[in-house]
Parts: sequence; C-alpha cells; structure tokens
Amino acid sequence: MTEFAAASGVGQKAGVALAATGLVLTVTVPVSSPMMATSADSSGAVSAASQPDVTAAAAAKVDFSRTAVTTKGDPDGKLKQLLSAQSVGSITRAASSGTLGAPLEQLVSASAYGFRVSPITGGAGEFHRGQDYAAQCGTAVHAAASGTVTFAGWHPYGGGNRVVIDHGNGLETTYNHLSSSSVRVGQQVSRGETIAMSGTTGASTGCHLHFEVMVNGDVVDPTGWL
Ligand SMILES: [Zn+2]
Repeated sequence: MTEFAAASGVGQKAGVALAATGLVLTVTVPVSSPMMATSADSSGAVSAASQPDVTAAAAAKVDFSRTAVTTKGDPDGKLKQLLSAQSVGSITRAASSGTLGAPLEQLVSASAYGFRVSPITGGAGEFHRGQDYAAQCGTAVHAAASGTVTFAGWHPYGGGNRVVIDHGNGLETTYNHLSSSSVRVGQQVSRGETIAMSGTTGASTGCHLHFEVMVNGDVVDPTGWL
C-alpha cells in the first residue's frame, strides 16, 4: 500500500494508510487518473495496472475446480517451501501461482481485486481489497492452506462475519460476508477444510465470498496465489 501511494504521487497516502484495516478504500481519484498507469510491483502488491477496466473484470467468468489445484502432490509442502525460501514480500507471481487452494469448490469470479466502481455507493475509485466469487449463501468455504485461525467474528469495516487464517511467514487469507463459521481463534485448520458457510453479511449486495490474501499485512491480488 505504501509503495503504491508513493508511486501514485497524487497525495492519497493518508487515505491509503487509513484504509489499511478496512475492507475497501474509496478515493476520489477518477479511474482514468495517471495512477492507473503505474507499473505493478513485481510482487503483485497493489497491482492497479493489471486492473484497467472495471467492467471487463466484473464480466469475467473464470471457472476451475478446486480439485485441479489440490490434487497436485503435497501443495502445502510447496507453499511452506516457497515461504521459507525467501521473504514473502519478494515472492513473484510466477512462484506463488498455484500455492493456495481455492476457497470454494467452484470459483466463479464476480468482482476482481483492485480499483473498481463501488457496488455500494456507485462511486468510482474504490479499491477492492479482495477477489469476489459468486456463491449462493450457505456454500461451503474451504481453507486455502493449512494454518491457524487468528480471527473468527464480526469485522467492523464491512467484512461482516469474517475468518482470518495465518499460514505463517507473513501470509494470511481472509474469508468475508460469511453466514456462519465453524472455527475458533487458535484452531489449526488444514488445506481444503470447511471453515465456514458463505453469506452476505456486512457491506455486501448479495451472496458471495470476498476472499483476501495478505502478505506482511498488505493485501495482494488473490489470483496470483490460486
Ligand atoms: Zn469483495
């Protein structure tokens, strides 16, 4: 976030910092502003440049099966190896791709990570901190990798019922707008384990899963890890 604010040069640093604990960030910069031309960080952090067109992202439908990812041999081992080999902040998209399992049996993209028109306010220039997947309320939500539950409860910044899993070495995943969760703080979960049911709690316009990947506390594009 801070790298992006510095690079954008439009004086949004304070707003970006304030939103660090929130689900979304609304800024007044139009989507056609020069910040959209900013090159994405090689780590994938705040890759605004890869999200140039909100309507195209919203219309995109990406279907693939969770089993296609998890049947690769020892995916958790691959993730642990990746995280221990280098600072998580320096991991490239090529290296991280495929290391997290899908949080739903079927991933149907509903709204991409990055700048978009807000579905709540209709305003442009909202920073969407995660990837939305279409899911009927009550759909099983799976842990993207093994880890420890560090939060399970109400998120006061729009996430509604939210679960956060710490995978170690600075990598976390969050699952939002849940109708219910079946885990508690401190619980160890395994990859693919059902941790919650999807819903539409919090700042949500309908049943879906808002999935976030965080690296050292900053959100990154989840699709770079799936
Ligand atoms: Zn979302």
